[in-house]
Amino acid sequence: MRIDPETDAIYIRQSSLKDFLLCPERLRLTTLNPEMKSYNDSAAMGTACHTGIEMVLNRQIMPGDIAEASVAAFAALRAKEYEEHGKDIRVTNTNPAQWNTHIASMSNAWVNDIMPSVPLGGQTEFKFAVKVGEVERVQPAENGSTHHDLYFEGTADYVCEGEAWDWKTSGRKYSFNEKQTQDIQSSVYATALVGLGLAEFPMNFSFGVMIRNASSTGQILTVTRDQGSSDFVVAQAVAMAGTILTMETFAPAKQWQINDQHFLCSERWCPVYSLCKGRHINAPDDGE
Ligand code: SF4
Repeated sequence: MRIDPETDAIYIRQSSLKDFLLCPERLRLTTLNPEMKSYNDSAAMGTACHTGIEMVLNRQIMPGDIAEASVAAFAALRAKEYEEHGKDIRVTNTNPAQWNTHIASMSNAWVNDIMPSVPLGGQTEFKFAVKVGEVERVQPAENGSTHHDLYFEGTADYVCEGEAWDWKTSGRKYSFNEKQTQDIQSSVYATALVGLGLAEFPMNFSFGVMIRNASSTGQILTVTRDQGSSDFVVAQAVAMAGTILTMETFAPAKQWQINDQHFLCSERWCPVYSLCKGRHINAPDDGE
């Protein structure tokens, strides 16, 4: 979440909303220590595949060249990570010896199994910022309260003909029930696109999922977003922004609520583990 210093408007990305719901303290610590937010292996492999897909959709390369382009993008990303942070990407649950093979395989899976269903002529990396509501900062009585416009901002992987697509790399297939009932990203992006007049409810949002292995296959999973899913995610964002403003006003620099009961709360997955749970628990926690 960021506050524009000139307009006082609040901007929320779907990833911040997810981070906050996962563990509020994790969002606070990663915001205060952005240098600790290093790339992990699966995120970097996903970014590399995104680059290859984007180049195909924008006709910069032929589909048959996607594997080579994605692997090259991965090498460039590792080099940049070295340059900026002096270290390689963080290894979580993948084998570095298989990184290039898996990236090539996932990129080809996108071409073979997903691309034939993607409508052509859309826009890649579609950036948006759309006002979705207002938030009140509760102040001590003598100061009165202040109002902030609330925006969703982000970048959609691909927007075309009133629908949106997002490319995912994953260790396992996605579950339709889980995504249809719980996914935040699709609700945020649908709210933004409808707000911009580029789509109407009910709106389709498709995940093009590439399974992370040496013989990858692609999965297309389409969820539907409507006014109800939009209202729900806006209410979540208003609650999150209001909570953060209240904490900032009345308890700056105090620890926020921690949620250490999910599987990502571990040395392997949480970039700020050493500042939080790791300060109290000495035995390594590798997230197994
Ligand atoms: S270590 Fe666990 S509780 Fe602490 S910030 Fe990370 S996810 Fe949250």
